[in-house]
Amino acid sequence: MRFKSKAPTRIALGGVAVGLVAGLSLMAGSPWVSTSTAEEAKASAPALSPVKPLSDRDVYYPGTEALAPDEMRVTACGTGMPNARPKQAAACFLVELGNGDKFIFDIGSGSFERLSALAIPFDYLDKVFIGHLHSDHFGAMADLWVGGVIGNRQRPLRVWGPNSTKPEYGTAYALGSMEKMLTWDAASRLGNVNTQGQKLEVHEFDYKGVNQVVYQENGVTIRSIPAIHALDGPVSYILDWNGLKFAFSSDTYPNKWWLEYAKGADLAIHECFLPPSLLVSKQKFPVPDALNVGTQVHTSPSMFGKVMSLTEPRMAVAYHFFNDFDTAPVVEAQIRQTYDGPLSLAVDYMVWNINKDAIRTRMAVVNEDVWPLPSVTPKLPADPKERIGFTDFTTGGREVFLDVIQKVYDETNKEFGTDVPAPN
Ligand SMILES: [Zn+2]
Ligand SMILES: [Zn+2]
Repeated sequence: MRFKSKAPTRIALGGVAVGLVAGLSLMAGSPWVSTSTAEEAKASAPALSPVKPLSDRDVYYPGTEALAPDEMRVTACGTGMPNARPKQAAACFLVELGNGDKFIFDIGSGSFERLSALAIPFDYLDKVFIGHLHSDHFGAMADLWVGGVIGNRQRPLRVWGPNSTKPEYGTAYALGSMEKMLTWDAASRLGNVNTQGQKLEVHEFDYKGVNQVVYQENGVTIRSIPAIHALDGPVSYILDWNGLKFAFSSDTYPNKWWLEYAKGADLAIHECFLPPSLLVSKQKFPVPDALNVGTQVHTSPSMFGKVMSLTEPRMAVAYHFFNDFDTAPVVEAQIRQTYDGPLSLAVDYMVWNINKDAIRTRMAVVNEDVWPLPSVTPKLPADPKERIGFTDFTTGGREVFLDVIQKVYDETNKEFGTDVPAPN
């Protein structure tokens, strides 16, 4: 028995409406709790014990749960504002599928450390889809590109994103400029770390494409639709796999393309900006800017509610606001003026497990002392011949403690059974 669950019951917790499946019994290695009849529920009720662990702690511990072949797991790695803060990085959502594929949608400022905290080999975090080129949607790209290599990625990083009305407004220009910005960084690592994972593949596509296939592999289709936000170029994405539909707006004003193609999504993540009143009182915007940015550049909470009333997803996810004890009730009340369906008010590390029968919403509990995992392919050492090295000026400043270094080499070689000679 995997899913003998009833339709999800929604309850509101701390301003966050979460989908929970009623019942308490837990399938080992699975995120799902299930029940059917009262007798079954009674028979499978967990025996509480003063010495044994609880069978269900209702949180997600990264790296501890198998993903079922028919299951999608989505983790919020950034849900806040362009001014990232400790509690909320800027836009980033990780989609993991039961076929083994993983996709990153937007990679805003501060989100790389959230991705790291999920304890996933960086070789698997090699596909990024950028909705638009605001820094709160791709500001951590350099961190993933370089940090992923240091974290043992040996595969190229593949990035998809839109063009615009001018080449210099497009994704290829932005990432080409990022590579240029990191010229010293890349040169400095040659011969010191293996940089085969530093290859960057950029796939730029037409921002005007409507339901345009931008990725199709391994049973997964990702399409783009135009978005309306700040300047021509932004897009939203729809991912289809195994009968499940994931829709991600990135940033957009309500638009006809979303309403048509995101309709009926299993998980629909759409921006929901702070309402103008909070943009003034909390973010310290002048009133005219708060009204313009909050309702013309972005989608306000009541506009978000209207969008979701027409989208009718199995779960609507609102993100792109600072989600606090005093802001969440205001945002939720405004959403509820126009929408009464299933709702999550996203915060970083919120996790949704989705299959055809149920959606389970939990928070991830991460290890702040996390280390990178090994590469999924044997890790090759750097080639010292690639090393650029110093000028005589800098070399002449070195104080070489040969006796100390020799001891470090000797002890390390002994520990690992190697025979790497100390440089002289
Ligand atoms: Zn934006
Ligand atoms: Zn944004």
